[in-house]
Amino acid sequence: MKTRRRAVVVGILLALPLLALLLWTAPGRHVQFVFGGALVNLGYRMQDHLEPYDFVHHHDVTPEEVWTEMLHQNGLASAVRHRFPRTPRHPLVAMVVCMDARLDTAELAGDTRQYYYVVRTAGSAIEAKEAEMLELAVENGVKVLVLTTHSDCAAERAAASPDGRQRFPALTRAVAERGLRLRELAARPFLAERIADGRLLVKHIEIDTATETMRVR
Ligand SMILES: [Zn+2]
Repeated sequence: MKTRRRAVVVGILLALPLLALLLWTAPGRHVQFVFGGALVNLGYRMQDHLEPYDFVHHHDVTPEEVWTEMLHQNGLASAVRHRFPRTPRHPLVAMVVCMDARLDTAELAGDTRQYYYVVRTAGSAIEAKEAEMLELAVENGVKVLVLTTHSDCAAERAAASPDGRQRFPALTRAVAERGLRLRELAARPFLAERIADGRLLVKHIEIDTATETMRVR
């Protein structure tokens, strides 16, 4: 009994430096970050094939059934969040991303903790209120604005077709004026001053929808 207790104490004493190495050194933190990402990906792989939880491919379910399932899943997720609250942070990145469900902003940012602001709109088209919100985000500490478009965008397709232009005039106009709105955003005095002196970086990005690879335009 005494020998076993001594073995446990020795084991703890040996494990402590390893734990310290993992928690408080730069390589250890990197290992934690990558390992955490691997666990998140493992979670995706485990959930992807679970058809009863798939909102996309079950066209025979009723809206009420979809809503009930969503509430149930929210209950599961919020119970975990309640038990393990996350650390609040001030994001350094703000992104403008199309509402296309195939785009995963956590993967774009390489950060499943979602320490970034994200504005999701149809076709990544922003209006005055989004521009004001982005300025507010910069005032709150954002240093990089990532303004994205993506391949195979349904909003762009609608805006490019005669039928789409007729059915969705507001969307068509928003996509057509997207570049102009972004130039107006960069010209807002508060932002322009910070872009000029290097406190704020603005990146225009094209996302490959299939792989989520970001390419600077
Ligand atoms: Zn899109």
